[in-house]
Amino acid sequence: MNNAPLSPTPRPVCVLGLGLIGGSLVRDLREAGRPVFGWNRSTATVEAATADGVDASTDLVATLHRAAAQDALLVLGVPVPALPTLLEAVAAHAPDCGLTDVVSVKGDVLETVTAHGLAGRYVGGHPMAGTADSGWDATTVGLFRDAVWVVTHDNAQDDPAWVDVWRRVVEMAETTGAVVVPARTAAHDSAVARISHLPHVVAEALSITADRGGALALSLAATSFRDGTRVAGTAPHLVQAMCENNRDALVTALDETLALLTSARDALTDPDDGIGTMAHDGHDARLRYEAFAGRTRETPANRPLIRVQPGAPGWLDQLHYAETLGARIDVF
Ligand code: NAP
Repeated sequence: MNNAPLSPTPRPVCVLGLGLIGGSLVRDLREAGRPVFGWNRSTATVEAATADGVDASTDLVATLHRAAAQDALLVLGVPVPALPTLLEAVAAHAPDCGLTDVVSVKGDVLETVTAHGLAGRYVGGHPMAGTADSGWDATTVGLFRDAVWVVTHDNAQDDPAWVDVWRRVVEMAETTGAVVVPARTAAHDSAVARISHLPHVVAEALSITADRGGALALSLAATSFRDGTRVAGTAPHLVQAMCENNRDALVTALDETLALLTSARDALTDPDDGIGTMAHDGHDARLRYEAFAGRTRETPANRPLIRVQPGAPGWLDQLHYAETLGARIDVF
């Protein structure tokens, strides 16, 4: 957690959607003593969150009026299909609030935000953390600790108000204990297609293939199967929304994987060939990943660090450079 002193009148965060990600964000901000309130569509979630001490409501219009009056930073914590209705309400009732989101794809969100005339106050976000569980009951303090929180900047405005939103989004992410890695929308969507959406599709295929092996296959499955298919436990509607909203980048990554699998299959059907090269290449690739991100969740990551002064001359070039390195940033 960031233990930096609180400013005298900290502006609140208003989280719209108190599911796993939005609800865990609320819990972290509360834990850090930051002012936060939220809205959720279903009454059951609002009742559960309120019982846990959270300031939450099912009244969207009233919540947005409050956010506008208190200059709150709005956080969209819902899946892509829910965005148009929510953004329509934001545009009508809190158009001047800073706006961010936690959605797993960034292209569609930027497009929808722009279509609602809200890009001037929008900074995209994506915390690279989660579990296979959903809803308020799955929320937890510390979900984002040491995780990467991607913050986008391709709609950067030469406007102090936009820079202020960018700074607030970074500060909010750091309050949860996350490290901020800047990336533009296309670069983010291409990267997450490879490291998140493709693994979801592959995990579904692995699970289906194992299941078709019958009871004995499932009975024998041990840790490697559990690890390789963990994300297939995610709620199907979320997987569908993630993957279908990043189709182009996912198809590119899937084509590469299919070519590798086809070549492995061809090699296995040829008694004079084998999968040695693939096994070595895959092993080397995994070691490179471990060197970058740490061998386990507990071991330290080795991302480069770039110090950035928001709004200073050349600061966006620094963010682009950080994107190419996958570097985290430190804001001063
Ligand atoms: P979740 O636990 O299932 O929560 C979904 C939230 O969205 C709930 O508050 C739900 O409200 C609300 N919602 C769904 N459809 C809605 C609609 N049509 N109108 C209004 N509200 C609606 O999901 P989550 O994992 O927190 O995912 C939320 C966002 O975080 C998604 O955009 C996802 O891409 C992103 N994300 C997820 C992960 C992950 O690992 N799960 C990681 C990073 C980012 P109700 O209670 O009324 O259903």
